[in-house]
Amino acid sequence: MRPIQMVDLKQQYLQIKQEVDAAIHEVIDNASFINGKAVQDFAAGLAAYLGVKHVIPCANGTDALQIAMMALDLQPGDEVISPSFTYIATTEVVALLKLKPVFVDVDPKTFCIDPVAIEKAITPKTKAIVPVHLYGQAADMEAIMAIAKKYSLAVIEDNAQAIGSDFCFSDGRKQKTGSIGTIGCTSFFPSKNLGCYGDGGAICTNDDALADKMKKVANHGQSKKYYHDIVGCNSRLDSIQAAVLNIKLPRLDAYINARRKAADFYDNAFAGNPKIAVPFRAANNKHVFHQYTLQLEGVDRDGLNQFLADNQVPSMIYYPVPAHRQQMFAASGAASYVLPVTDWLTERVISLPMHTELDQEQLNYITSKVLEYVK
Ligand SMILES: *Cc1c(COP(=O)(O)O)cnc(C)c1O
Repeated sequence: MRPIQMVDLKQQYLQIKQEVDAAIHEVIDNASFINGKAVQDFAAGLAAYLGVKHVIPCANGTDALQIAMMALDLQPGDEVISPSFTYIATTEVVALLKLKPVFVDVDPKTFCIDPVAIEKAITPKTKAIVPVHLYGQAADMEAIMAIAKKYSLAVIEDNAQAIGSDFCFSDGRKQKTGSIGTIGCTSFFPSKNLGCYGDGGAICTNDDALADKMKKVANHGQSKKYYHDIVGCNSRLDSIQAAVLNIKLPRLDAYINARRKAADFYDNAFAGNPKIAVPFRAANNKHVFHQYTLQLEGVDRDGLNQFLADNQVPSMIYYPVPAHRQQMFAASGAASYVLPVTDWLTERVISLPMHTELDQEQLNYITSKVLEYVK
C-alpha cells in the first residue's frame, strides 16, 4: 500500500507533471515573473468559473481577507461578526485592522456560522459578517444575505475551504460560494482544494467600484505608477503560481468529485456506528470536502488520533482551540463569549485523510483502523 498522507500533493502532481513543468518553464523563459500573462489568464479563468465579474489575485488567503476589509473602509472599533470555529486568519485580520472581532456560534450539523446567532450579535457598530464555508460546506448564505440586507451589512465570504461549491437558493437559483456575498476571499495554499505550489489567494466581487478599490489596496494604494492615493499593501500572486493554477483550475470539478467519492466511501463504512457522526450534507449546497471531519460521541478522540498515528494513518484536529480562546484575544476578554457548540465541537471533531488520490486499498485500511478503535 502507498503510504497514506493527510493530503497527497506529490501523487497529484505526478498526474499533471508534464503540463505543470512546461507551464512553469514558460514563465521562466519569458521572465514574466510578476503579473505576467499567466496571472491575467488565471484571473479571467477563475472569474468565468465562479460566475463573478472581477477576480483580483493576491498573495494568500489571509491578505485577501485583509484587503477586503481595507477596501470596505471599516474604521477602528467597527464590529465584524465571524465564527470562532475557524482557522485563525479569519479573525486575526479583523484585530490587525483594529476592528472588533465579534464571535458567534456555529450550527452543530454544518459547523458553519449560525444565522440566528448572527442576528442576535448585531449592534449599531456592526459593519460586516464573515461567514466561513468550513471544511467545504457552505454556510447558509440565503439567511445570511437576508440579514445583511436588513441591517445594511457587508458580507465577506471566507471561501478558502470551499472553492467550487454551489449554493442553491430556495428559488432554485445556484451560485458558486465566494460569488454570493459583497466580496469573496479564497486561498490557494497547497493543501486547499485548488492549491498552487506555494502561497496564493484571490478576492472576487461583482461590484465595479469595490474591485477598483481592492486592486488599488493590493498595490500600495496606487492609481498610476508612483502615485499613491491611499495606504495599501503589497500583495501579488506570482506568475509561476498562476501558471500552476491554470493547469489545475480546469480539473477542479474532477478533483471535487474524487473527494466526494472518498467521502461516500467513508460515509458507508461508518454508517450505523452510533459513536460516529459522519459529515452532514445540507440540501442547499454541494459539500466539496476540503476536510472529511467526524464528530465522535463517547470516544476518546485524542486516543483515536494517537492510535491512527501508531498505525500510519494521519488524522488531524481542526481546530484544537477556537479563536475566542486563543491567547491573542485573551486581553480583549474573548474567552468570556459563551459558544457551547463551538466548545463542544472542539472536543469531538477529528479529520481523516482527504485528497484526490486516495485509493481503495488506502480507504479500506483507514476505515478498518478507525472501526478497530471505535467498536
Ligand atoms: C487557509 C485559510 C485561510 C488563509 O489562507 P492563507 O492562504 O493560508 O493565508 C483563511 N481562512 C480559512 C478558513 C482557511 O482555511
